[in-house]
Amino acid sequence: MNGDVRREWFEKDYYQVLGVPKNATAAEIKKAYRKLAQKFHPDANPGNADAESRFKEVSSAHDVLGDHEKRKQYDQVRDMAASGFGGAPGGGFPGGGRVRFEDANFDVGDLGDLFGGLFGGRGRGRGRARPARGADLETEIAVAFEDAMSGTTVPVRFEGPAACETCGGSGAAPGTSPVTCPQCGGSGETAVNQGVFQMSQTCTRCQGSGRIVETPCQTCGGSGSRRRTRSFQVKVPAGVKDGARIRLAGRGEPGPAGGKPGDLFVRIRVRPHEYFGRKGSDLTVDLPVTYAEAALGANVQVPTLNGPVTMKVPAGTPNGKVFRLKGKGATKRGGKGDLLVTVGVEVPQKLSKPEKELLKQLQDVEKESPRRRLGVT
Ligand SMILES: [Zn+2]
Ligand SMILES: [Zn+2]
Repeated sequence: MNGDVRREWFEKDYYQVLGVPKNATAAEIKKAYRKLAQKFHPDANPGNADAESRFKEVSSAHDVLGDHEKRKQYDQVRDMAASGFGGAPGGGFPGGGRVRFEDANFDVGDLGDLFGGLFGGRGRGRGRARPARGADLETEIAVAFEDAMSGTTVPVRFEGPAACETCGGSGAAPGTSPVTCPQCGGSGETAVNQGVFQMSQTCTRCQGSGRIVETPCQTCGGSGSRRRTRSFQVKVPAGVKDGARIRLAGRGEPGPAGGKPGDLFVRIRVRPHEYFGRKGSDLTVDLPVTYAEAALGANVQVPTLNGPVTMKVPAGTPNGKVFRLKGKGATKRGGKGDLLVTVGVEVPQKLSKPEKELLKQLQDVEKESPRRRLGVT
């Protein structure tokens, strides 16, 4: 039996071809076949290509449905196909196993074509189980705004599962090592036959690691894992954003039976700054100026990450105007962002006597040439 024939199973409803119900008896199938075979036989339809192809179709249907074993397999394939492999694409079979055809001539690639993304990039073919890996862990640290901008190295203390110090994470007593799991032969998975399909399940003995511990370590009881506090130095890159995660490879939970450990992720919380905000790689700051500075123009001092700089506010600057100071922002790939300075005209809450007098004079001058506001004087 070759792949093309099996492939046809997915595409052709042989019951329909023979015109019998799915629960037809062997005798009914035989009877239906005989009738159709006679009708479309090439001897009875010389030169009729249509009849010839119908005859072939009817013969193929009978080859499968007329054979008890083949019919059983055909039904299973059709049921599987109809159920979309028992769930959402990528979901695969219950138990997280993989599926493959028992028939060595059937190419899994054909199945992949038929079921689209079902097989995805994973489980295509007959590769060995991935060795069980320890879980990833996460912790969080807070850094000052300035440190996040300049980059820094922060000590992190983290309490959680870590490789046992007695056995080095293997779970095996000192002087011994984990051995190949006898149940799965080290593959980490065992086969479960489902008729024509063969599903693989994670091995129950070794939980997929492919290895077992015969003489457990006394300290960790064979798990290879112990809860303890570890200290790390975490390098925080310049310009790091709030919420970014830094990966410490291999610092996560130890893998079972000495398997590969997971990673430890350190989430960075950047403390807010007193006056700097952030928009992507640009920094923001609100700069208060006086009415006189905005109206007459002035050189004002603006704080930046590297100390104050002088910025020119031109005469007649409106409230809320944004100025961009190039390269005074956060570090980004290939350079630095800008500092966006939003000018805000401040109304003084308290006035000195000379200020008050000057403003009254200004008010008197304004009354001599009143400006229309909102259509009224
Ligand atoms: Zn096993
Ligand atoms: Zn141990």
